[in-house]
Amino acid sequence: MVDEAQIRSQFPILDQEVHGHPLVYLDSAATAQKPLCVVDAERDFYLHDNAGVHRGAHELAARSTLAFEESRAKVAKLVGAESQDGGEEIVITAGATAALNLLATAFGNATQGRGGKAAQRFALHPGDEIVTSKAEHHSVLLPFQELAYRTSAVLKTFDLDDQGRIMADTADEVITERTKVVAVTHVSNVTGAVTDIAPIVRRAHQVGALVILDICQSVPHLPVDLHGLGVDFAVWSSHKMYGPTGVGFLYGRRELLEALPPASFGGSMVELAYTDRPARYMNPPARFEAGTQPVAQVIGAGVAADWLRAIGMDRIASHEAAITKGLLRLGQLEGVRILGPTSAENRIGTVSFDVKGVHPHDVGQFIDSRGIAIRVGHHCAQPVHRHFGVYASNRASTGVYNTMADTDALLEAVSGVRSFFKAD
Ligand code: PMP
Repeated sequence: MVDEAQIRSQFPILDQEVHGHPLVYLDSAATAQKPLCVVDAERDFYLHDNAGVHRGAHELAARSTLAFEESRAKVAKLVGAESQDGGEEIVITAGATAALNLLATAFGNATQGRGGKAAQRFALHPGDEIVTSKAEHHSVLLPFQELAYRTSAVLKTFDLDDQGRIMADTADEVITERTKVVAVTHVSNVTGAVTDIAPIVRRAHQVGALVILDICQSVPHLPVDLHGLGVDFAVWSSHKMYGPTGVGFLYGRRELLEALPPASFGGSMVELAYTDRPARYMNPPARFEAGTQPVAQVIGAGVAADWLRAIGMDRIASHEAAITKGLLRLGQLEGVRILGPTSAENRIGTVSFDVKGVHPHDVGQFIDSRGIAIRVGHHCAQPVHRHFGVYASNRASTGVYNTMADTDALLEAVSGVRSFFKAD
């Protein structure tokens, strides 16, 4: 188990009162709070080393470049994507959303013949299939839906069971010989359910399709081993894994990144540029990192990755499993329905719920008046809400700093909601 007091002492933000109550932060699925070591790393960088990376022959540029590349390697280590030089399979992006748009745009570019013969493995032809699921965040669904429109490919989705889990056991029917791309979430940001990814990867590879895994909601909570999972690409954001905002990551198997055409263009991604003939682009990961990089934030993300590894992802997972059980007691309250698995197995502590007869915004405000931060709305995932027959929900989500007392406070507050709003 983790040492709760020791963990919480690293998050000064948690030590405050909101509306006269001690703050209970249960919105880590939206963004996690930052430990002091991450905040300090950004500050130290600006105080001592600030310079652009990969250019400039001066000492500060050399230090910045070293720290930037070391961070890439630290992040690779956290997700089981170590390679020879530490981080060659990790591309720095502006976030998970940017990483997904990078992939969809690059596949579209390949379809238009960019990237030559090697890139044809990413090209989509009319009638080819892109498979995703009804549990996806819009940042997975929409870039690939748009890609399908651009290429006349067909967008198909995995259905969900009554607990909101992706029905991975239907992989053999959903994924066909026409499937070129499968983009699914590892953990839903609404239901908290962990996807049984193995049958999906097996079937996709059987038909030669590429698998893109959204690991935004698994990386902060569970051990993730990308090489072990065997996926082709993965995307996630730094800010949900206790790192800074403005940074995300794209993992790609080395040979795939080498064949993938670029999706955005500018400085630091080109070897040779001309006005009268095509440019020659750099090798990955630089090919996908046009423009000045968010160096301080990437360094903060590297520190966050090391911080998580130092605590141990297994220990974090078992601590949060206990807190998840505490949150799932919500389902025992009258008029409260959990949207997702009701037992703590194969899920994380992101627990969405509906309070019968009370609009989520009213619930959120009532809870906030007790100093408790949860998220309300559709959480950028409308299809999964439709699956449960609601438009929006309330979502409480854990981080490593949450305690059973936090769940008690939430339960007490939620138990007062229906009588306050006179819901029948
Ligand atoms: N996928 C999932 C499952 C998410 O929870 C989120 C963030 N809510 C994203 C993708 C997008 O991440 P970002 O907004 O950081 O780009």
